[in-house]
Amino acid sequence: MVDYIIVGFGIAGVSVTEELERRGKTYLVYEDSSQKASRVAAGVCNPVVLKRFTMAWRGGELMDGAISFYKGIEERLSQSFVDELPVLRRFNSVEEQNLWYEAADRPVLREFLSENILKNKNEGIGAPFYLGKVHKTHKVALSQLLSSYMAYMKAKNSLIEEPFVHDDIEILDNGVVYKGVKARHLIFSEGYGMVQNPYFNQLPLVGNKGEYVIIKSETLRLKEAIKAAFFIVPLGNDLYKIGATYDHQDKSKETTEAARDKILKKMKEVLCCEYTIVSQESGIRPTVRDRRPLVGTHDTYKVLHLLNGLGTRGVLMGPFLAKQLLNSIEKGETLEAEYNINRFA
Ligand SMILES: Cc1cc2nc3c(=O)[nH]c(=O)nc-3n(C[C@H](O)[C@H](O)[C@H](O)COP(=O)(O)OP(=O)(O)OC[C@H]3O[C@@H](n4cnc5c(N)ncnc54)[C@H](O)[C@@H]3O)c2cc1C
Repeated sequence: MVDYIIVGFGIAGVSVTEELERRGKTYLVYEDSSQKASRVAAGVCNPVVLKRFTMAWRGGELMDGAISFYKGIEERLSQSFVDELPVLRRFNSVEEQNLWYEAADRPVLREFLSENILKNKNEGIGAPFYLGKVHKTHKVALSQLLSSYMAYMKAKNSLIEEPFVHDDIEILDNGVVYKGVKARHLIFSEGYGMVQNPYFNQLPLVGNKGEYVIIKSETLRLKEAIKAAFFIVPLGNDLYKIGATYDHQDKSKETTEAARDKILKKMKEVLCCEYTIVSQESGIRPTVRDRRPLVGTHDTYKVLHLLNGLGTRGVLMGPFLAKQLLNSIEKGETLEAEYNINRFA
């Protein structure tokens, strides 16, 4: 008997699991490596929409809580996964510079956007219209964090690395039984894999494929992330992630030549250095029609719950939403209408 079964161990799954650990609950996690969004994500934790210089949904409010949540995981696992990583927005025109100045003057953005714009000092980057600096942004090394957490769970027999088969659940009034294990509650955090889940796949999860190109350049020597047409995110050892693309039609798992060409073409005038292409990665973002997360409890089966729809800013939203879901299950607190799945009832 455990308190919870969790299906899926990406950002949503680790957010729920860590929150359960902090509450002293027992759990069993199923993970089958069928989805990759959290594994390929650059892990940038940034509350500002850098296309229009606006605050992302709940952006400023969630930032401190998210970073301290991941630092708590660092303590639990005695490893480092979180680093401050300033983001430099490359301007395309004087008009964009003026929009930045206006945005930086708004109270909600003031603490995040630099008051002044900066001259580019890196010869590997072309930025004739200068750069704006976003403060307080971080990078979470998600793939390492997830692997380390899985090793931690494996050591205490809390992880099963195989596909969870929805047809094999027995639902009781006070819990579920799956493969002989009884749990008080079951939380699905399957990312885009939710489309196979008969209990929740009527919800409007759209999915949006993202691809990165990984390059190596010994001359680029970037310490910050750059946001131009795409992000350039330093990974260490002269490696950089460049992307990611957005494609809501192609839901295949393979990387594509079209995405690679698009990234390299758009970054031609930004990358003024020698580089080699090392690899390419892709994942499907679990995006939702109304661009809000999917959190809540099944209408009929009150022991089945969902944390999904983290879309494009999972690092920022995951910890907050996991806490809200568990408060609703354990304490009967009401979930906010904006992200409660009952908005689609
Ligand atoms: C290219 C790219 C770049 C991104 N960059 C960023 C970024 O820099 N910052 C940011 O905040 N967000 C970023 N995102 C978005 C972020 O990745 C998502 O918000 C987040 O990963 C979603 O996490 P999730 O746990 O809901 O889904 P997933 O990461 O897809 O995790 C779901 C997990 O469930 C498992 N699973 C599914 N079905 C089953 C089953 N039946 N049995 C067992 N296991 C199952 C899958 O294997 C998977 O591990 C990016 C996304 C992409 C694709």
